[in-house]
Amino acid sequence: MIEPHMYAQKNVVVLGLGRSGKSVAQSLQKAGACVLAWDDVENARESALESGIPICDPEALDWSKIHALILSPGIPHLYPAPHPLVAIARGHGIAPISDIELLFQSGTGAFFVGITGTNGKSTTTALIHHILNSASRQAEIGGNFGIPVLDLKPLGSQGTYVLEMSSYQLEISPSQHFGVSVFLNLAPDHLDRHGGIRGYLEAKKKIYENSTPEDVLVLGVDDPYTDELYCDLLKEGRVKVIPVSVHKSLSSGVYVEDGFLIDNCEGLKKSIVNLKDLKTLKGVHNWQNAACAYAALKSQGLLVGEIISGLQSFPGLAHRQERIAEVNGVIFVNDSKATNAEATSKALDCYQDLAIYWLLGGRAKEGGIESLASYFPQIEHAFLFGESSSSFALTLEGRVSFTQCGDLSTAFEKASRQAKEDKKKASVVLLSPACASFDQFRDFEARGEAFRTLVQNLIKEEHVKVA
Ligand code: ADP
Repeated sequence: MIEPHMYAQKNVVVLGLGRSGKSVAQSLQKAGACVLAWDDVENARESALESGIPICDPEALDWSKIHALILSPGIPHLYPAPHPLVAIARGHGIAPISDIELLFQSGTGAFFVGITGTNGKSTTTALIHHILNSASRQAEIGGNFGIPVLDLKPLGSQGTYVLEMSSYQLEISPSQHFGVSVFLNLAPDHLDRHGGIRGYLEAKKKIYENSTPEDVLVLGVDDPYTDELYCDLLKEGRVKVIPVSVHKSLSSGVYVEDGFLIDNCEGLKKSIVNLKDLKTLKGVHNWQNAACAYAALKSQGLLVGEIISGLQSFPGLAHRQERIAEVNGVIFVNDSKATNAEATSKALDCYQDLAIYWLLGGRAKEGGIESLASYFPQIEHAFLFGESSSSFALTLEGRVSFTQCGDLSTAFEKASRQAKEDKKKASVVLLSPACASFDQFRDFEARGEAFRTLVQNLIKEEHVKVA
């Protein structure tokens, strides 16, 4: 645990008592701060109290005596409207900050790598962390990914914190300073929280806001927003940028051509590795993640051989095109993290040569699945579940054969039976829902775990039958 001692004896309000809020409250308590915690949800307050975190009466707070307000990233501080306590704090000159801000303020002396973008953050963060560890470098992973940052191991100057940074965290971490920043891509998302695409871009740009000329920004340049940003940064010349593309060759930077990762940072067009051979980084989107990870680590002196061997041994992340098993010649893939059509398109793209038994549905996003129409001809059968069933049925009518199944386990049962009976040469039962999970599951992880259990049960049943 990291203890932010600069807050010893100070009054600090912690707003939001989820995993990171509880962690920050406990770290502050250990550091000798007087913590005043609050969450609008009663269960969260009760659970915090049970963990020894004092709950305050928000109406009775004397803001003139409060030193800082630590805010959970899920709570709005600007758009669509600031949380009332944030508005009051601002009125007293207190700007909300994140737990990551406290990590930076703690002055660990470690090196920081920060990763942001609309898609691919978790994969790239995990990949960079994995490559560092497999090259025997001391590294900790956190931020928007997994463990709250103040629960990480304290690292000295030999260590590296690899932090996934959401736009919300970037906005409330003014001391952040990354030796390497990675900005993967930008697409419209979370616009309500940023007052539009420009506000969203501005939040993402904070990843390099405190960069000095010694620092490096790895920038994916494959969408119009980041491409324009690259041109602006070249003119400005303030930050050292390594551009990365998976769609075009670059006169300077890192790019992918026919699946080969090309390092052209020194104008030598060195072919590094065939990305098509990486089993856990399938698809062009993952090539972007791999190429950015390569550029980030190469800039920090890792040997090309160390990076390649880390790319090859990367185990992949759960719920992102995770191959769970092959049963009776059918592959079962858990892509529960695909909570919108854009993410699902990446999975459908990867299985073009297979008969796809597609499990989809949940709480639909704006636009539904119409944008996936070009993939419809390759779908063998769609199995619909969740709240979106009737609207998706309308979209698929006459274009894809489908069955409305109600829930995931019925959809799974029907899909696995049909895939087994059809005996296609190569087939996949793919959970890639293109929807949020909240209508039937706690979150996308719970949905993915339910799918995993269903596959495991199927394997057991098949063993019993064979025996
Ligand atoms: P994030 O943490 O940004 O949500 P993840 O690494 O968890 O991203 O990936 C989530 C989903 O987004 C994946 O299942 C995949 O469909 C898609 N994805 C991953 N990387 C990229 C990328 N570089 N560009 C576009 N989509 C991506």
